Amino acid sequence: MAKYLVVGAGLFGATFAYEAAKRGHEVKVIEKRDHVAGNIYTKEVDGIQVHQYGAHIFHTSNKTVWNYVNQFAEFNRYTNSPVANFNGEIYNLPFNMNTFNKLWGVVTPEQAKSKIEEQKSVLHGKRPENLEEQAISLVGTDIYEKLIKGYTEKQWGRSAKELPAFIIRRLPVRFTYDNNYFNDSYQGIPMGGYTQIVEKMLDNDLISVSTSVDFFADKDKYLKDYDRVVFTGMIDQYFDYCLGELEYRSLRFETKEIDVDNFQGNAVVNYTDSKTPYTRIIEHKHFDFGKGGKGKTVITHEYPKEWKHGDEPYYPVNNSKNNALYKSYKELADKEAEKVIFGGRLGQYRYYNMDQVIAAALNTVKIEFGE
Ligand code: FAD
Ligand code: UDP
Repeated sequence: MAKYLVVGAGLFGATFAYEAAKRGHEVKVIEKRDHVAGNIYTKEVDGIQVHQYGAHIFHTSNKTVWNYVNQFAEFNRYTNSPVANFNGEIYNLPFNMNTFNKLWGVVTPEQAKSKIEEQKSVLHGKRPENLEEQAISLVGTDIYEKLIKGYTEKQWGRSAKELPAFIIRRLPVRFTYDNNYFNDSYQGIPMGGYTQIVEKMLDNDLISVSTSVDFFADKDKYLKDYDRVVFTGMIDQYFDYCLGELEYRSLRFETKEIDVDNFQGNAVVNYTDSKTPYTRIIEHKHFDFGKGGKGKTVITHEYPKEWKHGDEPYYPVNNSKNNALYKSYKELADKEAEKVIFGGRLGQYRYYNMDQVIAAALNTVKIEFGE
């Protein structure tokens, strides 16, 4: 039986560890933070599950993944319906008939489509090549200016012209009066929070977990002591940035408990103007239909910032320059495939959602164990 080291107790690392232990392998998990669960970590404050690293809504159309994650928690029926606040004007998201009606007074899908057609004519039929062009071609110039440009440029610290089109295609555009942010078949929030999912995955006699341990403090020894290593940290850091640094986007979360019963009436409110320095405010109790302290609530302001050494690298910046550099790192990684598997958002430098991380980890398991 091979001895495994998993670097990072996030969702990828935990899924791999759980599956390896299920097959009788011994697994050591090391995690540099002082807790498990990576970015899906939640903590209870006054009966409210606080999402410590930003709003996390589980959504998927992959039935296998949905059944899989339901082994570890029971999910509520939460449906994400964020609202956008543009200088005090409130719009429904994602872009749907409610948004179009509020903005233009249109009532039928046909009227909304013709308004968008008229506005996208500024592109002169050009195939969208960046986020700005993609947004205008999907929803027209008014929505781009009010609900997309300011938010996007704050979030990514770059002009929307320099960002890849796929980022805005994450959001549905719908010609129905439906404020569900996702098109997926399954959606919810685990009752009792996300941390329990990872804790249950790691709760096996064959798995031992050490937190506050950084792989890079003893990289050579770890590589010598273990047969196989699953690495879910930053791929460029693993190779000591030898080909140059990949770019990441970081965030600063400002979380506070306030003596108010209901602060904003919704779990997520996006501030889409360019002047407000934060992108969104989360009011955590609304993920669980207001459950938790009466007369108290917990809110988090999310401030985007450029990643620098020492910050958490929350998002890969998947523009063409970084993707090309990642490809070169991936070639180095392939040469180490005998020893190391690179997985997860940072190991694969990919803007993965939770369900995609689970699917990717299960796929890695299949390959690793020849199934
Ligand atoms: P991580 O959770 O980052 O885990 C990697 C772990 O490795 C971390 O704990 C890190 O500390 C550890 N590590 C790194 N380097 C080292 C080292 N050198 N030594 C030891 N340990 C190390 N997904 C959704 O599906 N729905 C959402 O609503 C959603 N919202 C999100 C909101 C925000 C603000 C962010 C940032 C992400 C969101 N996601 C969402 C994505 C989701 O968080 C990820 O898909 C998932 O958590 C990735 O899991 P992972 O294991 O790849 O990475
Ligand atoms: N976006 C926007 N306005 C919004 C919400 C999102 O322009 O009100 C854009 C922005 O570029 C963002 C992208 O859509 O980065 C994807 O949004 P999502 O909510 O998926 O971002 P995440 O939750 O992953 O940060």
